[in-house]
Amino acid sequence: MIRFPRQRSISMRLAVATVMFSLLVTVLGTVLMLAVRYNDDVAGAHRRLDEIGRSYVPSLSTSLWLVDQDRVDLQLDELAKIPGVAEVRLRSEGVELDRGHAVHDPLLLRSFPLSYNEAGHFDLGTLQVAFGRAPVIAKLEDRSVGIALATLVTLLATSLSVLLLVRLWVTRHLEALARYARYVTFEQLQIPLDLRRRRRRSSDEFDEVVASFNRMRERFLGELAVRARHETELENHRDRLESLVSARTATLEAQTLQLEQQKRDLQRLANTDSLTGVLSRRCYLELVSAEMLRSRRQQQPLSVLMLDVDHFKQVNDGHGHAGGDRMLTVVADTCKGMLREVDAIGRIGGEEFSILLPQADAEGAWLVAERLRVAVAGARVVLDDGTSISCTVSIGIGELQGTQDGPETLIARADRALYEAKRAGRNQVQGPRDAGSHDDPSGS
Ligand code: GH3
Ligand code: MG
Ligand code: MG
Repeated sequence: MIRFPRQRSISMRLAVATVMFSLLVTVLGTVLMLAVRYNDDVAGAHRRLDEIGRSYVPSLSTSLWLVDQDRVDLQLDELAKIPGVAEVRLRSEGVELDRGHAVHDPLLLRSFPLSYNEAGHFDLGTLQVAFGRAPVIAKLEDRSVGIALATLVTLLATSLSVLLLVRLWVTRHLEALARYARYVTFEQLQIPLDLRRRRRRSSDEFDEVVASFNRMRERFLGELAVRARHETELENHRDRLESLVSARTATLEAQTLQLEQQKRDLQRLANTDSLTGVLSRRCYLELVSAEMLRSRRQQQPLSVLMLDVDHFKQVNDGHGHAGGDRMLTVVADTCKGMLREVDAIGRIGGEEFSILLPQADAEGAWLVAERLRVAVAGARVVLDDGTSISCTVSIGIGELQGTQDGPETLIARADRALYEAKRAGRNQVQGPRDAGSHDDPSGS
């Protein structure tokens, strides 16, 4: 059961106001009606006094003229019995006759002069008639309760009827409206509001309210439909955007990968010699510099070899530039295959290579150089025409010595040794004298 504090409050206030209004109207109405009745009673008393003046006063005057005492008494008794008459007093020639009882605060008091006018005018005395107030008041009191009760009952009945009609025509529909507004769901909004009222010939304010409510409902439904359509369109746009973004992202990622690959390739190209695949001169010298620092720090030996192909010009001349290139590739590959992981080989000039040997002193370098020399001498270079040729190399050794040594000094030292090897006949190793008691194999 829904509670409708406001509506209940309206009904309650209406009921209280109705009761208060009924009580007030009852009091005022009763007072008004009593005043009207009081005036009626006073007017009735005046009429009766006029009647007494017309009918009783002449006959009483005659009875007094004829000195008919019995008739006078009889007439006074009749006067005293007229309703409302409280006191009748007759004064005639010093005699005073009373009927009824003495009244101090009469409602009406009238004196009638008594006279005989047949053979001249003779004053016979006065007749005083008083109407009492008490009987009128008592009558009003008797009536007041009845009037008040009747008025109250009538008003209460009317108010109750009005309350019932208010409940039937207004409050009930307000409750139905509130119930609908409170519990209506989105799906139920499709159903028009109907207060299930009996059809009337003329429409009233509630028909207007229901029509307005239904217009509002239809407007909301329309707006909701538009909003739903917009949301769907937005969602579609968002999906399209998301797929565009992911496609673009995928493309960008692919391009980034490609760029990174190109960067690596460029770096490799910059760091390696394109013909032989060994380190470029610049990169090799940087590596030598770094390794020299490390060797000094760790107080370890380090050596470099300078290697030059003997009579290379003749190879070029005899087998073409391509043949010379092929020979350079074979020399480089042969050397690479024989070096340790920590060693490095770089191309310093046309047919000059240098080999970095960390942790190797001059003696160790001799062993490596000799191994390389023998291996190159044993290698075969197969040319494009199918013929195979061989070559020899001369090798100079430079060992890291003083702390002042730079890469150029070290390489220049090895270069001098190489020059020595060339001068001594080629196909041999030359280096520091204390490096070992190696025989000069060039003579073999
Ligand atoms: P030596 O025994 O005294 O070293 O004599 P050599 O002929 O090897 O020395 P030289 O310096 O006179 O000749 C080197 C030649 O190497 C000259 C040059 O044309 C050639 N050369 C330089 N770079 C390349 C290259 O990249 N490819 C080829 N095929 N030849 C090169
Ligand atoms: Mg040479
Ligand atoms: Mg040379």
